[in-house]
Amino acid sequence: MHTPLLHYLDHRIALYVGDLTDHAVDAIVNAANSSLYGGGGVDGAIHRRGGPAILDACRAIRSSLWPDGLPVGQVAITVGGELPARHVIHTVGPIWGRHGGAEARLLADCYRNAIELAASLGLKSIAFPAISTGVYGYPPAEAAVVVSRTLAAVMREQPGITQLRLVFFDARQFDIFVAHQQFSD
Ligand code: ADP
Repeated sequence: MHTPLLHYLDHRIALYVGDLTDHAVDAIVNAANSSLYGGGGVDGAIHRRGGPAILDACRAIRSSLWPDGLPVGQVAITVGGELPARHVIHTVGPIWGRHGGAEARLLADCYRNAIELAASLGLKSIAFPAISTGVYGYPPAEAAVVVSRTLAAVMREQPGITQLRLVFFDARQFDIFVAHQQFSD
């Protein structure tokens, strides 16, 4: 069911097409909104399949760490509930055109902060959706440049992350990413 279609960085990064919630990794990353109370897209899929334990954990994070919501680019970790993944790392991607030119930096922050949090907890495998490229409107070709460059740098600093998966919902998004990635520049 999970066949990687392409690898980069000595096989530490693998690309897939399919449903992120199928992936049995130490953590999947949620493209959440700052409320952490669930939404559409991949966020909805994660809460539907993971069950109420994830929402309970998100509510606890809101009342303890982030009463005003999770800021763009920041991360928070919860249980995986009934998902095959052990944990969910929630992050909030930038909305395209709403951050005065800081969109690329904020998108990079999502990936970097998720990886650094996973590594700090001793997690080894992590799977990402294409953050911000859905309702948040980030052009997927531009996201591919930012994400691949960020991952190339961060993965060098984090040898403990042995397996990073990028999961695209459909073949078109995968193709755009492959055409525009700059892993080896
Ligand atoms: P955002 O609000 O950050 O744009 P979305 O969930 O709308 O988040 O979209 C992010 C990306 O996740 C999009 O490319 C969308 O096609 C994709 N996506 C939606 N559902 C899933 C899923 N179940 N598995 C993997 N990717 C998904």
